[in-house]
Amino acid sequence: MSQRSIAIAGAGFAGAVLARELAENGDYKITVYDERPHVAGNCHTVRDEKTGVMLHQYGPHIFHTSREDVWAYVNRWSQFGQYVNRVKAVTHKGVFSLPINLLTINQFFQKSLTPAQARDFVGSLGDKTIRDPQNFEEQALKFLGRDLYESFFYGYTKKQWGVEPTSLPASILQRLPVRFNYDDNYYASKFQGIPVDGYTAIIERILDHKMIDVHTGTRFTANMTSQFDHVFYSGPMDGYFGFKLGRLQYRSLVFERFDESGDYQGNPVINYCEEKVPYTRISEHKHFTPWESHEQTVCFREYSKLAEPKDIPYYPLRLQDDKSLLQKYMDLADGEKNLTFIGRLGTYRYLDMHVVIGESLDLAKTCLATTPEAWPRFSNKPI
Ligand code: FAD
Ligand code: UDP
Repeated sequence: MSQRSIAIAGAGFAGAVLARELAENGDYKITVYDERPHVAGNCHTVRDEKTGVMLHQYGPHIFHTSREDVWAYVNRWSQFGQYVNRVKAVTHKGVFSLPINLLTINQFFQKSLTPAQARDFVGSLGDKTIRDPQNFEEQALKFLGRDLYESFFYGYTKKQWGVEPTSLPASILQRLPVRFNYDDNYYASKFQGIPVDGYTAIIERILDHKMIDVHTGTRFTANMTSQFDHVFYSGPMDGYFGFKLGRLQYRSLVFERFDESGDYQGNPVINYCEEKVPYTRISEHKHFTPWESHEQTVCFREYSKLAEPKDIPYYPLRLQDDKSLLQKYMDLADGEKNLTFIGRLGTYRYLDMHVVIGESLDLAKTCLATTPEAWPRFSNKPI
């Protein structure tokens, strides 16, 4: 079989991992395009010239996974520094530990409950009339009751998503654990860490292969597809089709940088749960590399807004109308040949890095075991 040519749109984790796996294990000539001037997508990190702090340019990124193969994969490309994400949340009653754990419950309700007592107590706060929660708010009211919901989730969620939590799926809340012990680790994953020289260095190493050409600052458009035997597209699915059926909605973010000296907030991330505070959180980036020391500190206030055409699409909104439109774009995609949509934007899903990496590893295995004619249209079903 002659060597096939493959284009990959997007040099984030989805595109880069797939490119490397196909380059190493198959007979493909791969061209990776990214419209940004750098690789690594939203995980891009850059060392700040002024302070020397490693900045996460598109928002704080903490790596965590329970998949052994994904953890082994990222460790192949970088050493990971020890890091456990511990978030604090500012509410109208003061500052608490998040995710909700025994310390949060005891301090919030001014009690000294044991794990078993706390479980019963929080259980007694839940709304018993909700049997099968249909949305974010019902999920929270059923399992946490009104006081915790309104203090920690209502305002933050409304700011983050720009809609009433009754319009959002319960699955968003299920991202956060509730614990009846003093474990304040934000994640329940088996492995966690932050790459010592940042995420961009990892992606550069992944893409450094003789069968991979990388073109940054170059947008891939649908009319280029015919030049390749197959295209993997990790940009927005509606964008590939020129938005001809309308636009899928995304939330975008605005990061407001401010510099201080010393330690500004004493923690990497502090969430602001009250609706009246205009930002959702402040991140202080030098705390993501606790093994480094810096005199100066760089912080970002994070504001959420509906993405307009000129904005970077960050979080797929996935309201009911979006899902109907998504189905129509999926039908269009099914009519295409030689094309696979991958990653967070390509499949319009709210995915963490480890999920995207895992899906690209799995997709590469599928592709290597079959011929391009049989390659799937999506790395995973968007709906
Ligand atoms: P992206 O990283 O978005 O990469 C897609 C790339 O495609 C972009 O570089 C874009 O420029 C390029 N592109 C788009 N269209 C075109 C085109 N037509 N031609 C050429 N290039 C194109 N995950 C975690 O695991 N832990 C976290 O702590 C975490 N924090 C996050 C915080 C924020 C604020 C956000 C928004 C996300 C966070 N994530 C986190 C999720 C993480 O960013 C994603 O899982 C990951 O970036 C997905 O990789 P991707 O390759 O699918 O997409
Ligand atoms: N959330 C909240 N208050 C908080 C933290 C999270 O209401 O202090 C809600 C919010 O709706 C958010 C969701 O829980 O979108 C998931 O939180 P996570 O931290 O996983 O979001 P991420 O920032 O990783 O996208």
